Amino acid sequence: MCEKGLRSDLTQTPSHIAHNPSRPKVAVYWTGSCGGCDVSFLEVGEAIVEVLSRVEIVFWPALADAKRADLEALPPGYIDVALINGVIRTEENREMAEILRAKSKHIVAYGACAHLGGVPSLANKWGKEEIFRAVFGPGFRPAAPIEGNGEAMLPDLTEAAVPLEHVVWVDYTVPGCPPPAPLISRFFAALLSGEMPEPPYIFANVKALCEECPRVRHDDRRIEQIVRPHEVVPDPEVCLLEQGLICMGPVTRGGCNAPCPVAGMPCTGCLGPTPEAGDPGAAMLSALASLVRFEDEGEEYFAREDEVIEALADPLGTFYMYSFGKYRRKR
Ligand code: SF4
Ligand code: SF4
Repeated sequence: MCEKGLRSDLTQTPSHIAHNPSRPKVAVYWTGSCGGCDVSFLEVGEAIVEVLSRVEIVFWPALADAKRADLEALPPGYIDVALINGVIRTEENREMAEILRAKSKHIVAYGACAHLGGVPSLANKWGKEEIFRAVFGPGFRPAAPIEGNGEAMLPDLTEAAVPLEHVVWVDYTVPGCPPPAPLISRFFAALLSGEMPEPPYIFANVKALCEECPRVRHDDRRIEQIVRPHEVVPDPEVCLLEQGLICMGPVTRGGCNAPCPVAGMPCTGCLGPTPEAGDPGAAMLSALASLVRFEDEGEEYFAREDEVIEALADPLGTFYMYSFGKYRRKR
C-alpha cells in the first residue's frame, strides 16, 4: 500500500477506530541499528502525521529524551505495541529487549536486523575476540568501566549477533532494510483499524518477489555467466537472473513492488525468505545450480554447485546478506 493507500485506508476505517477510542500506546526502540529503520517511518510521507495523531508515543529515545529508568517505571503490559529495530549485539541490547517485552502486549521486529540479524550479523563469520582484536587492537577490554564516567560500563558483546526472536517472543515482523513504504503502511493500517492478524505474523507476501516483478522470464531460461551489477548494463525488460545477475527474487518474500529489479538492481533479499524457500542461501544455490550452464570445448553441460560458488565474488554476502544471524550463526 502506498502513501495514498494508507491515507485512503485510514479515512475508510473510522468505524473500526470508533470501537477502540483509546489511542494505541506505541514504543519505538533501536538496538544494534544504523538508524535507517527509525528514519524509514517518514517513507509513508504525509500519512505519518495521521499515524502519529492516532497513536500515543510513550517511549522513543530517538525522538524524545527517554531513559531506561523511564521504561522500567512503566507497569507490565502498559505499551500496546513496541517496534524494535536493530540486531541484538550487546548485553544492553538483550536487556532492553527483555524489558520492552515485559512492558508490552505486542513486540514487532522492525527491519531486517531485528527480523533476521541483518547486515551486522555477517560479523558472525568471526568470533567476538577476533572482532575485538581487528577493530580495537590488542589489549582492549570489553565490559570495562568508562574512564572518568563514574560507574558507567561499556556493555559486553553477545557471543553472536542474533535476531530479536532469539532473545524474546516476537508477535509481528515488518521486514526490509529498511522496511519499504507499502509494508509500513500495511502494518499501521492494521494497527489503526484494530484488526491485527493473529501472531506470529510477517507483514509481507508469502509468495516470492518474482510474482510481482514486471521483468520478463523465459521458459527456457539459462545463465551462461555470472556477472556483478557494475559489470553490465542490463536489458530493461528481461529478468536480471537470466542476464547473469544474482537476483534473490525467487526465494524472497514479495510486497515491496520490486523497486530494485525495476530500477535494474538485483534483489538482495531484505524482506527475508518465503516460507517455501526456508534457508535463503541453500534455496538460492539450488535454484541457481539448475539454471547455470557452461560450454566446455563446444559441449554444453550443467555446472556443479561448487563451480557456481567459485564464480561468485562474495557467496556469504550474496546469499545471506540479511539472514546470517538467523540461518548461519556461529555457535
Ligand atoms: S534493517 Fe537496514 S535500515 Fe534497519 S537498522 Fe538494519 S541495516 Fe539499518
Ligand atoms: S529480476 Fe529478479 S525478481 Fe524479477 S523476475 Fe527476475 S529473478 Fe525474479
